[in-house]
Amino acid sequence: MFRLSHPERLGAVAGALDESERVVLTCHVRPDGDAVGSMLGMAAALENAGKEVICYCQDEPPGNLSFLPGFERLVHTPPLPFPEGSALLVLDCSEADRIGEHGARMVDEAHRLIVIDHHLGQDMCEGSDTSEKQSDARSDDFCVQYIDPDIFATGALCFAVLSQLKWNITPEIATNFYTAILTDTGCFRHSNTTALAFDMAARLVEMGADPYDISDRIFERVPFRKLALLNLALDTLSLDLQGRVAMLHITRSMQAQAGASVQDSDDFVRYARCIDGVEVSAFIKEISDELVSVSLRSRSWFNVAAVAKSLGGGGHFHAAGFRAKGDAPLWRQRLVGMLQPIFEQREHKSSMAAQEAAG
Ligand code: 5GP
Ligand code: MN
Repeated sequence: MFRLSHPERLGAVAGALDESERVVLTCHVRPDGDAVGSMLGMAAALENAGKEVICYCQDEPPGNLSFLPGFERLVHTPPLPFPEGSALLVLDCSEADRIGEHGARMVDEAHRLIVIDHHLGQDMCEGSDTSEKQSDARSDDFCVQYIDPDIFATGALCFAVLSQLKWNITPEIATNFYTAILTDTGCFRHSNTTALAFDMAARLVEMGADPYDISDRIFERVPFRKLALLNLALDTLSLDLQGRVAMLHITRSMQAQAGASVQDSDDFVRYARCIDGVEVSAFIKEISDELVSVSLRSRSWFNVAAVAKSLGGGGHFHAAGFRAKGDAPLWRQRLVGMLQPIFEQREHKSSMAAQEAAG
């Protein structure tokens, strides 16, 4: 068995799933490999345990995940009203708004709320008992959550839950969880990669996940249009704050020129962060005339989740994002303005420390 922190929460979530006969599974908007892998893996396991499942995510996942077993289960119209007595299992997300437009109503409809996540987010249980309907009708254990921001992928927490339940992990489930772990650790390269990530990956391979096939399908079948868009985006790459901040962006006309889809640029921010000397990178995508989505990444000490949170977004210490009004030039300027004092403060602190050390 895997040794994880908060075994009591793991037990509570496992128990709640075991008791639920109908489960609606969902995840965050713009679902990634971890969100989809967690959802499809859990859906298969619940169904094998004789439960009725519905998998809903608001947005279409990136095309390179369509090979995942059970992908055809995903529906993009909200299953509202819920079938009687449905539990809502929220994966890789712990904010109703991050589920999408219908998130709040879904939480409201749920007979029981079960959350498995690894984001530095809100407490979903705390926010779930505010509407009039539930206060009297809902019991104390209406909401159970297993949230561990120290764990690399939600798929890993799901794997731990199924192991606790001693439910059979089929090759279909293993493929989904392996994909969740592979993608959220950046192929075992991100700072969140631990011995447990390798341990779980090894077990999942023993259980039927094919590491070569999964990597090949996710990373080695890139559509030409994506590289055409990258070509345009790299033209906007710039360095600020003495080479410690790198930014790039795309406009809607660049996207149209390349014939690209919205998801084709999902990982572009990494081309800015991989530059030697860069601590923070930003990728700005114009998604409508007045709206941008911004991806932030950091290399070591910079907490981009704090910046994203202050702008209404969220995420992890080294990877975060937000959406805001404005266009790319505006946000390039604004971000430099926001980041500069944080770099200066850090410099000030380290020069004070150096002076102290010098006596
Ligand atoms: P990405 O830059 O890949 O879109 O997102 C990086 C991380 O930040 C992910 O963990 C994602 O869930 C989180 N994130 C991105 N955008 C938002 C947002 O608007 N709100 C919140 N809460 N998290 C976000
Ligand atoms: Mn994740």
